[in-house]
Formats: sequence, C-alpha cells, structure tokens
Amino acid sequence: MSWESLDKSRIWHPFTQMRQWQIDDPLIIDRAEGFHLIDTAGRRYLDGHSSLWVNIHGHCHPALVQAIAEQVAKLDHSTLLGLGNTPSIALADRLVQLTPANLTRVFYSDSGSTAVEIAVKMAYQYWQLKGVPQRDTFLTFSGAYHGDTVGSVSIGAIDMFHSRFRGLLFPTVQCPWPRPYQDAMHGGDSTKVRDACLAELENKLAANPGRIAAVVAECHVQAADGMWVAPTGWMRGVEDLCRQYGALLIVDEVATGFCRTGKVFGSELEGIQPDLMALAKGITGGTLPLAVTMTSEAMYEAFLGEYAEFKHFFHGHTYTGNPIACAAALANLDLIDSSGLVQALPGRVAVLANLLKRFASHPHIGDIRQLGLMVGLEVVADRSKKSLFPSEALVPQRITHKARELGAIVRPLGNVMVLMPPPAMPEALLAELVDTVSAAIDAVTLGED
Ligand code: PLP
Repeated sequence: MSWESLDKSRIWHPFTQMRQWQIDDPLIIDRAEGFHLIDTAGRRYLDGHSSLWVNIHGHCHPALVQAIAEQVAKLDHSTLLGLGNTPSIALADRLVQLTPANLTRVFYSDSGSTAVEIAVKMAYQYWQLKGVPQRDTFLTFSGAYHGDTVGSVSIGAIDMFHSRFRGLLFPTVQCPWPRPYQDAMHGGDSTKVRDACLAELENKLAANPGRIAAVVAECHVQAADGMWVAPTGWMRGVEDLCRQYGALLIVDEVATGFCRTGKVFGSELEGIQPDLMALAKGITGGTLPLAVTMTSEAMYEAFLGEYAEFKHFFHGHTYTGNPIACAAALANLDLIDSSGLVQALPGRVAVLANLLKRFASHPHIGDIRQLGLMVGLEVVADRSKKSLFPSEALVPQRITHKARELGAIVRPLGNVMVLMPPPAMPEALLAELVDTVSAAIDAVTLGED
C-alpha cells in the first residue's frame, strides 16, 4: 500500500474536511533539507509557512540535531513533578534573561494552547489568592485565536472554529481588534481605528469595574484570523489601560516569538511588560513540542503558602519540561546568537517588504499586511469593493495547490494567503517564495494557467 492510501485509511487530519482529503492527492513529506521539504517521490518544496510557524533556521539544522542527539543519549525524560532536570533549569534561566524584565518565572508545557490555558488558570487563581475573587472574567478580542483546548477556545473568537463549542465555553467580555482595512467609520485611518478600539477597550474596562481578571491579546498580530497587524501604539495602549484598570495582561507570543516580528519577541517592539506571556512554536527552532508560560515574581509569590493551605497551582502535564525539547530550545537560542540572525533581520524584513510591492496594484490583492516575516495577502474578487470570491470557488485552496505544483508550500487562512518564511531564510529564497506565490495567485485569479 502506498503512503498516500495508508494515510487515507488511518489518519484523521486536524482542521481538515476528511471527505475532501480522500478525494485529493495528498502530499506526504518524507524528509527535509535546509529550507525545503521533500515528498515521498523526492520532489522539493520551499517551506513558505515554516511548517506551521515553527521553523526558524531551516530544517534538520546540524546544531539542533546534535543537541537533541546528545541530550537523548544523556537523559531522555524525567518529570518536573517533584524533581528538577538540568536542561529545563538552564533554559528557564536563558528565557528569563531574554524576555521582558518583569518575567522571572517559567512554567513548562508542550503546546501554544496549553501555554495560554495555563496563563488563564494562573490569572484566575491569582485573584482568588489575592482575596479578589470577583476579578473572574477575561477580556478578549474579536478574531482572537489562542489554541484549541476548551479554555483557550473560550478566549478565542473566530466563529468558524469556535461557535460550535459555545456551550462548553466560559463567557468573556469582547472588544474589537483594530483592522484598518475592514474599517468603515474612519476612512481606514490606522491611528483613528486604533484610538477608537482603545476607547472601546477603556469603556469595557470601566463598565466592568474590578471584574476583569486579565486582558488577553496576541502580540501585535492576530495571526490565525488572517494576519491582522495592529497599528503602531496599539499594544502600548492595551498595556497602559490594563495598568490603569488593574487588570492583568496576558500576551500570547506563540506565533510572534523567536524572531518572526523582526525582534526576538514581539513584546520588544513597544516595550510591553506582560504579567503572563505564552511562548511555544518556534521555541525549539521547530524541532520538538515545547511551550512555556512566563510570569512575574508577584504572580509566583501569590501562590506561596503552607502545604495544607493548598494554594499551589494544580496543573501539570506528563512531559512538562522534557529534557530533549529543552536542550533543543537551548540550541535554538544559541544559534539565534551565533548565526547573527537578530542583526540580519531588519535587512531581510526590508527585502521581503520590497518583494511584496508587486502586489500593491494587483487586481485581486486587496491588502498586504506584514510585520517582520509574517505576511497576509488578502485575496479579493474585486479590489475596489473589497468583495471576496465565493467560498465554493475554493480560490485560496487552488492558489495553495498551484504554489505547491510550482514548488512552494504555503497555507491560506480563509481568503488570506499567508507567507511565514523561517526567519533565517536567505534573501534569494525569499524572492523565490514570493515569485512562486505570485505566479500561483496570477494563475488562479487571472486565469494565467
Ligand atoms: N496562540 C497563537 C497566537 C497561535 O497562533 C496558536 C497556533 O497557531 C496557538 C496559540 C496554539 O498553539 P498550538 O497549536 O501549539 O496549540
């Protein structure tokens, strides 16, 4: 039996209509080299989505492979429940040095969803421990995505993904995220849209005095809902309002962390000091599942008490602080330093921005959104009306397939084509990626096939 048919008979793929999968010709990846994924027939594809936003330095980087091999031979796994392990300690220390100064404590888990779920539970318990149990409600943003566990879905707001589970979820207070492209009231002026959204955030905080446990925000970019890059000053404004109204700030850097935004962490862009920060995806350079929830000394201290007070945080996963994943993360951080990646980022981001200029007058690209190496191209039927192609026309899916035929892997989000190249992708390959996606867009939308 071929890999394709065995896959079709055994695997249930995430976020996938499996009836369509059965009809399609699935692409089965067998190995990877540098910035390319290679299928079972030996065909090579440029990894234009960093294998779902995780890859940083290219695939199977020798430094990461070596760190993983050395660690697995030394200590494969030992739990953090009741024991410590050396790689998790070393990594926690490095992360505390790298992230905003107020973040001094590291709680491990293994996915972005769990990292956010933990932040929510910590914030909720924190207010109880401080004797303010009425601060029990989370303020979230429309279009938010924080993962797929029930808690992270509760603070998410993408109807297509989340509405079916509404009955399982806890209620939140919701505010709009600034999206100048979709704005109808301020002529699309980003500053005005930002200020209107900040005013609404302030109204909601004022209307729920002493009730908001935390405001939860993706860092600068609502990624999964279509790469909605917030106007400059938005995150600063959100943090300032949290301080003013006494709510905690949970910043989700799962997608933005580890060099995607042009900085190591998106929080650096406006000097944000969140009370809780979720990191995952790129933390191991895209090699192994690992996540952390970082928090402040004040948060940590609230949980201290005598054993029998049972103030401890009753949460933990079997593979929490896995030594191999932590060793991979340490090697990732070493490589970010030794490869000069941070220094190279501004130039690379500018090159990408320049390459994207070709879409500025494209009749079927309504908006180009970019922060660092995160890009969303809004595919439209009519640019002046901002109208979309009907979903049945499967335009983004056809563009994705065409790009694949032409040798690049990307993945759309709704009607948005997403480009998320690994931060270390050389400029020549960035150009190849944009050329390929551009050709695929033209082939499908202009019928230039
Ligand atoms: N938070 C953000 C901002 C994300 O983009 C994602 C995944 O795309 C998650 C959380 C969930 O991460 P995971 O898929 O590792 O659970």
